[in-house]
Amino acid sequence: MRLVQDLLDRLAEIGADPPGITREAFGAGENAAMALMAETARGLGLECGVDAGANLTMRWVGSDPSAAPVLVGSHLDSVVHGGNFDGAAGVVAGLAAIAALRAEGFRPRATIEVLALRCEEAVWFGLGLIGSRSLLGRLPKGALDLPHARGGRNLRDCIAGCGGDPGALGRPLRDPRRIGAYVEVHIEQAPQLIEAGQPVALCLANPGNVRHPHIRITGEDAHTGLPHRFRHDAALAGAELALALERLWLDEEAGRRPMAVTIGRFHTLVERHAMTVVPGAFEMSLDLRAYEPAHLAALEAKLHGLVGAVAARRGVAIDLGPRSAAAPGVMDAAILEELAAAAARQRGLAPPRLNSPGSHDANNFAAAGVPTGMLLIRNRNGSHNPDEAMETDDLLAGIGLLTLWLAGRAGH
Ligand SMILES: [Zn+2]
Repeated sequence: MRLVQDLLDRLAEIGADPPGITREAFGAGENAAMALMAETARGLGLECGVDAGANLTMRWVGSDPSAAPVLVGSHLDSVVHGGNFDGAAGVVAGLAAIAALRAEGFRPRATIEVLALRCEEAVWFGLGLIGSRSLLGRLPKGALDLPHARGGRNLRDCIAGCGGDPGALGRPLRDPRRIGAYVEVHIEQAPQLIEAGQPVALCLANPGNVRHPHIRITGEDAHTGLPHRFRHDAALAGAELALALERLWLDEEAGRRPMAVTIGRFHTLVERHAMTVVPGAFEMSLDLRAYEPAHLAALEAKLHGLVGAVAARRGVAIDLGPRSAAAPGVMDAAILEELAAAAARQRGLAPPRLNSPGSHDANNFAAAGVPTGMLLIRNRNGSHNPDEAMETDDLLAGIGLLTLWLAGRAGH
């Protein structure tokens, strides 16, 4: 479909920032992408608006005002030097599905709404999924005071500056019980669909996480000649904890309980470390993720057990520091079956059912009790990098499914 390629090309121009794409949240890139989507939506006869979280809403008003609206969409911001498709593909998919339905002469009974959600990427404020949090009243305390990574303006001023109303964000902007469904199309962030040889997957769940950004291990600085039994080596304690977490991960996977461990920061202290000093201080971060709330809770309990054991064995103190958490997003079973039924009507399509490696705005909808679904689109090379590679034909296959699903959900 011409519209899809045109929009993707124009989004790439808007975000061009060699060697990748940058569409800064609440900045020029995201704003220009929103303007492009709004202009396209108006061309399709949709009513455009901006909600109190400065999210863009594009509505195709249905004939039955009592029918709960059906929402589709994603986000338009990117990381710095990311790719063109993470997020944006989902907003384009929503508009393209509406264009396809209009071309068929379809008339919606329930209102269909395409959402372009603000600031999904955590790079801008150290907190992700901001647009969907705003919409559903799920911004954590103090979030509006967080400074933007570029320029330091706080989130409150950024939202106000983009037409939102930060004073209205303490509670949901709309009643989640009055939302019929939310379906998000998003590129896959692992090569599982490349492996499966399929363009589209039905998402089962998005991971939730427990995060400790500032873990500190305290031992004792000592001379390099100190025998092992006298040492309180903070770096080796960090290494032991990291490898124990990896072993836990591999054991869980062998038991078919998917999860992931990421230690993105792992270091001795630059102001103190030296080749000839046994390190007495060590810092690391931890992102622990899993797909079921009970599993995530059990993993967190195991983390505490490992921390206690390593600290005791090494004679160090391990302070996990601040903790943040996000609930797993479990997709709605009925929507999953509806999407599967739509796929069965498409020749050559046999979408696998996969867990998504990443968290998405869909998590907030699911956590708020909105029946939620996701379609993942095949994508080589992961995301959050300039080499993201989604074929437009694969997105079109996803749009075909979304269109069939919308016709069923919002039709007569
Ligand atoms: Zn995304």
